[in-house]
Amino acid sequence: MRIIVCVKAVPSTTEVKMDPVTNTIVRDGAQSVVNPFDSTALELALRIKDERGAAGEDVRVTVLSMGIPDTERLLRDCIARGADDGLLLSDRAFAGADTLATSYALSCGIRHLGEPDLVICGKMAVDGDTAQIGPEIAGLLDAPCVADVRRLVACDGTSLRAWRGTDAGVELVEAPLPAVMTVAKDAAQLRMPSICGVRASLAAPVEVLDVAGAGADPERCGLAGSPTQVVRSFVPERASGGAWIEGAAAQQAEQLLQIVEGMGL
Ligand code: FAD
Repeated sequence: MRIIVCVKAVPSTTEVKMDPVTNTIVRDGAQSVVNPFDSTALELALRIKDERGAAGEDVRVTVLSMGIPDTERLLRDCIARGADDGLLLSDRAFAGADTLATSYALSCGIRHLGEPDLVICGKMAVDGDTAQIGPEIAGLLDAPCVADVRRLVACDGTSLRAWRGTDAGVELVEAPLPAVMTVAKDAAQLRMPSICGVRASLAAPVEVLDVAGAGADPERCGLAGSPTQVVRSFVPERASGGAWIEGAAAQQAEQLLQIVEGMGL
């Protein structure tokens, strides 16, 4: 069984700063960490590997990222915790990607690795926060997507069963493999690296591919492949002040109406 876990490097602080001129995230000086949702995704993959491995099945877990060269450090940390190998898509031509170009690049990486049984993504990245990548990858791979998995009940070589979040609560769903799954942060806690794992991570293979190596169409990557354009980005101003409305309900309604009319609404 082959499992691919998509891992995004995100700034270690939740205080993500935007460059007001270029409208991109300022990453200089911010130490990158693995997106917390992706740590959960990795732990679920490792649990499947443990369980299926105990039943005699060979399960390979590969961590995949699109990012700057330093992201290799994070992929090796994932290997120290139990992943088998890694693939990093790194090329200036991938830069400036919106979610469509990102999911396209990742789907090329996934195809390069072969036909996986399961692709696991975080439900969302704490910086970009769109939660679009997992479902988009599923669309590009023409695979079913189980989004917002809260608890993985079972996963064998043919199907997965999981509780997933819905607008109304949770529901138990079953999907045939190959499939894509996106996971909520609290679905599991990533294990610590072992000493053997740390040693293994130093020598483990982490392939680094550029656009051509990934077999990707440059026109669909990075800025060139991004139909989304950020027109302006800003930190919303906090509204302050306010007005107390007092009196009987009818008087309050009258005052409220006057205020709203005074605002020209
Ligand atoms: P989500 O959909 O919230 O992430 C869900 C899951 O997808 C993650 O948990 C992870 O498992 C997986 N995932 C997401 N991204 C990756 C990745 N890179 N590698 C592996 N797995 C991943 N960002 C920049 O850094 N530089 C830019 O120049 C830049 N330019 C942009 C320009 C535009 C017009 C737009 C709209 C966005 C730009 N971004 C840029 C942000 C970038 O598009 C998103 O960070 C990226 O598409 C992922 O979206 P997300 O963070 O919302 O991921």
